[in-house]
Amino acid sequence: MTELSKDILARFQVRKTKTQKTAFIERMQAAYPELTVEAGGFGKPRNLVIGNIETAQVVFTAHYDTCARLPFPNFITPLNIPLYLLYQLLITLPLLALMFCAVHFITLWTGEFPIGYAAMWLVLAAFLWMMLGGPANQTTVNDNTSGVLTLCEILAAMTPEEREKAAFVFFDLEEAGMFGSSRFAQVHKKEMKDKLLMNFDCVSDGDHFLLVQSKKARLRWENVICEAFGPVPDKEVHIERASRAIYPSDQSQFPCGVGVAALNRKKGIGLYMDKIHTKRDTVLDERNILYLRDASRRLTTLL
Ligand SMILES: [Zn+2]
Repeated sequence: MTELSKDILARFQVRKTKTQKTAFIERMQAAYPELTVEAGGFGKPRNLVIGNIETAQVVFTAHYDTCARLPFPNFITPLNIPLYLLYQLLITLPLLALMFCAVHFITLWTGEFPIGYAAMWLVLAAFLWMMLGGPANQTTVNDNTSGVLTLCEILAAMTPEEREKAAFVFFDLEEAGMFGSSRFAQVHKKEMKDKLLMNFDCVSDGDHFLLVQSKKARLRWENVICEAFGPVPDKEVHIERASRAIYPSDQSQFPCGVGVAALNRKKGIGLYMDKIHTKRDTVLDERNILYLRDASRRLTTLL
């Protein structure tokens, strides 16, 4: 990997506060003088853009913001939808129980229902704060330093002709609710209407690549995507329709979005991701980044 990628891993892995993000942006500006910062919109995201969005044939994207550390992993099984929903329910149940306890016992204790009711909402607010505003996860190798490194490696490897055909966007505020990408989609609605967008989110842990294509992307580019990302030694590539998978990330904001992730597989579970948003998010399989770099270059050439 390039020196820039190594430096990001070593010194800029936590990008949650304004100061941390500014330090990362300054490092990126030093590496890419042509980088522009598009700021503004709900939550004040700062998206980083390299290349010409209007003339590019393909836009490669990854979110650079860091999530809060959670006491439980963000366990996801994109192709096993019943299990996906079951896990979400399992996380929600203790919260609902806590909210119920708050309203019940505080009302009993104070004799005032409005106070119990307020306590219930306070519990919910505290939970949401923990999810979004809590202390940053200190290890973000897979989510989503791996996506950031993928874009940097593609940028470093591309020829000037390939660079001409591609643009790159590092999105802010994905974890808080995709505010960065939704702002970008709004501002660049016309340019992005018929443009292929490849989004890398959590790509360094697992031997199974999952590509989730929107309908429009599938109808227009499935052949070239299959050719570019085709069979790879020691790894498996699964190309799926967005309607048959749950992989919520920035690609979902765009008409021709394709989400790219790496996952592990277990019998009875299928493809899964189980370490992100915790201190166990430390797995970096460099082969994944290099494969995605080469596949992205092939794709750009084919377009
Ligand atoms: Zn992510």
